[in-house]
Amino acid sequence: QPVAIVCVGMAGSGKTTFMQQINAHLHGKKDPPYVINLDPAVTHSPFESNIDIRDSVNYKEVMKQYNLGPNGGILTSLNLFATKIDQVLNLLEKRTTADPENPARKPINNIIVDTPGQIEVFVWSASGTILLESLASSFPTVIAYIIDTPRTSSTSTFMSNMLYACSILYKTKLPMILVFNKTDVKDAAFAKEWMTNYDAFQAALTADEENNAFGGQEGGGGAGAGSGYMGSLLNSMSMMLEEFYTHLSVVGVSSLYGTGIDEFFDAVKEKAEDFKRDYQPELEKRR
Ligand code: GDP
Ligand code: MG
Repeated sequence: QPVAIVCVGMAGSGKTTFMQQINAHLHGKKDPPYVINLDPAVTHSPFESNIDIRDSVNYKEVMKQYNLGPNGGILTSLNLFATKIDQVLNLLEKRTTADPENPARKPINNIIVDTPGQIEVFVWSASGTILLESLASSFPTVIAYIIDTPRTSSTSTFMSNMLYACSILYKTKLPMILVFNKTDVKDAAFAKEWMTNYDAFQAALTADEENNAFGGQEGGGGAGAGSGYMGSLLNSMSMMLEEFYTHLSVVGVSSLYGTGIDEFFDAVKEKAEDFKRDYQPELEKRR
């Protein structure tokens, strides 16, 4: 059965570059994926899509016609596209099953989806939710949460990013793979360490607090990691995150050079199994 991989992440985290890399990887394995682009605002796409939101809605025109700014334009384009989701599902259905009239055409094993640069427009909008739920009702669906590793190397940006990932897990109720991208610039070992070794994260917190104690914007006037309101908040958050981490797969990749992509697909296999075992029954209960 095919798997749908939906790439989400902050603007600039590397979703599109990552898409290009997994697309190339699957082509290399003679297992080409079905590619869907849901970013109406991308001007230059480095890969070819089977379904492209830009073919059915003109983002610039939508902005003009409805008098919208960039985010409103993306949101309205997604809304317009979501009204055609049944057509999309029909196409996917056709391409993921064998065609008796054309036995030479192999059914697709992977559906890969790129989403708008602005993560909140997709994850927190009604149409984004419709698109995700429609996919998940037809295929095992996993979220690839792409992280800009070099920009997540301080304890505070790391914590914020993990909390955001956790909120997306809670919102979508789909299995998630954390993809630490740009490891050619900064290795992801520190992140893996912080996620598995509580003491290491605590030590890093303390060190960051000490560095920020004088005039640093995160010091908050001396509210250190171990003391007072900030300290107890941080402790509770890290405990919550420890629980969150146990549900995740974590991989480090470089979308620029293609390292770590095999590990990513191992994680996809694992999470697709999780989907069938844990998530699908829940989704069906809610329907
Ligand atoms: P998106 O907004 O999430 O789709 O991000 P893009 O794929 O457009 O990438 C944003 C920027 O990060 C671009 O300049 C990419 O070249 C760069 N980038 C993406 N992946 C990598 C990577 O693995 N390593 C490095 N060094 N740069 C990357
Ligand atoms: Mg992009």
